[in-house]
Parts: sequence; C-alpha cells; structure tokens
Amino acid sequence: MALEMRTICEKCETGLGHDTEAHICSFECTFCGPCTEAMDRVCPNCGGELVRRPRRKTEG
Ligand SMILES: [Zn+2]
Ligand SMILES: [Zn+2]
Repeated sequence: MALEMRTICEKCETGLGHDTEAHICSFECTFCGPCTEAMDRVCPNCGGELVRRPRRKTEG
C-alpha cells in the first residue's frame, strides 16, 4: 500500500482538501475539525494529540 496524503477524515470520511481545516496526530491519522473536537483532540487510533494540519496554500 503506497503512502499518500490522506484527504478524508478517518472517522466520518468527510473530504479534507488543502483549504479545509484538518487535524493530524504524530502518526498522521487525519480527522476533520468537528470530529477532532468531539474526540477532545485525542487520536482514537493511537492516543496521540491531534494538532491542526498546516495549510499548504499561502495567503495573499
Ligand atoms: Zn470527521
Ligand atoms: Zn493516531
């Protein structure tokens, strides 16, 4: 299985584009904002802290 950037929430499968707020843990589990809040910002897979994923798009 090839490693690729996940673009959906692992919990609710909401699409997460580069402009969408997403949260990841240190193992790159990826979740949308509402799920992250609902889980108290703790990854259900590994127990790690979920942090906001930086957006690649530059402002301006
Ligand atoms: Zn979600
Ligand atoms: Zn995780």
